[in-house]
Amino acid sequence: MAKTYKDIMDEAKRIVPEATPDQVKARLDRGEQPVLLDVREREEYRQGFIPGAVSVPRGFLEMRVEEAVPDKNTPIVAYCGGGTRSLLAGRILKELGYNNVVSMQGGFTGWKNKGLPITEPHQFTADQQIRYSRHFLLPEVGEAGQAKLLGARVLCIGAGGLGSPAAFYLAAAGVGTIGIVDMDVVDLSNLQRQILHTNDRIGMPKTESARLTLQALNPDVKVVEFRERLSSENAFRIFEQFDVIVNGSDNFPTRYLANDAAVMLNKPLVDGAIWQFEGQATVFHPPEGPCYRCLFPEPPPPGAVPSCAEAGVLGVLPGLIGCVQALEAIKLILGIGKPLIGRMMHFDTLAGEVRVLRLRRDPQCAVCGDRPTITQLIDYEAFCGFTPTAEPAEPRPAVSAA
Ligand SMILES: [Zn+2]
Repeated sequence: MAKTYKDIMDEAKRIVPEATPDQVKARLDRGEQPVLLDVREREEYRQGFIPGAVSVPRGFLEMRVEEAVPDKNTPIVAYCGGGTRSLLAGRILKELGYNNVVSMQGGFTGWKNKGLPITEPHQFTADQQIRYSRHFLLPEVGEAGQAKLLGARVLCIGAGGLGSPAAFYLAAAGVGTIGIVDMDVVDLSNLQRQILHTNDRIGMPKTESARLTLQALNPDVKVVEFRERLSSENAFRIFEQFDVIVNGSDNFPTRYLANDAAVMLNKPLVDGAIWQFEGQATVFHPPEGPCYRCLFPEPPPPGAVPSCAEAGVLGVLPGLIGCVQALEAIKLILGIGKPLIGRMMHFDTLAGEVRVLRLRRDPQCAVCGDRPTITQLIDYEAFCGFTPTAEPAEPRPAVSAA
């Protein structure tokens, strides 16, 4: 004989033990770490959930729970809105072999009515739910990660070869505030690689052109323009407003200044550099890894290196490196993966080779070392040139980009 709803519920109650919200809270307070499995619909979860809960809607339970909770001995507290769906979910979980499952009586409503702590996530607009849907599908990003991105503040030094792709992808990803420091205007010779800018904007300040492009791509993004050259006078004032600094500068004075200011303010500096067909990217964030000065304590003398304009660069190369920089900035914001701290990705595009070099912090470093001797920002004489690449034994010149 076919079962009725009541039969199924009775069966679920026999199989699945229940716990009250207070009992669940007591378990958490004791330091137990059951997986809090929220089986409500996505829309309900979005309105608020128990801190740390994992969302696997009832309708996707069989398909997704093994990914969310691979070990079937893991203690699970399933909850829904009122305690019914989680009982039914508990029954399925038992069938799937999960042997330590309880269903929370009264569900999220009961928990909330007891005044127990809840997390109320960022409320996304309907457009944002569509715009960021591919991020929401990644457990490592999800809605919580997207909310972090929207709340994040990233500074791009330069809206040139590296800053263009970096800022473009940061804006697409929904990084809520992007600062751009650049005092140049758009020049026809920029357009071979600086994809933020367009032909009809020749002569326009790059920060303004960047703002127009980024906001056309994503109106969620606020672009803060700094139409000034980074200097010892303004570096702290500008850097202080941001969480992560993306360095797309094309000259030594800015490179050293950005490094020193980032170290002194303890901000991660996502560094990128290019030279003709080669490029590299790393994250300077001592003491976990080195700073730029650990590798290259002092700039080379002016004139010792060829100028950027003379050197030439394959237009697509800064696109590659700038994208790696955007990626690293996003990893830092989300706290996912292994940032390139203490490691440098080096691309030899003609050879088609990528290497990852290990970099070590120098405890004697003048700025990030144990007894720093550089405690103020320095304005070096302005000159262009490549920054050395970080071959551990003997630094080999490479790199820089406008
Ligand atoms: Zn250092």
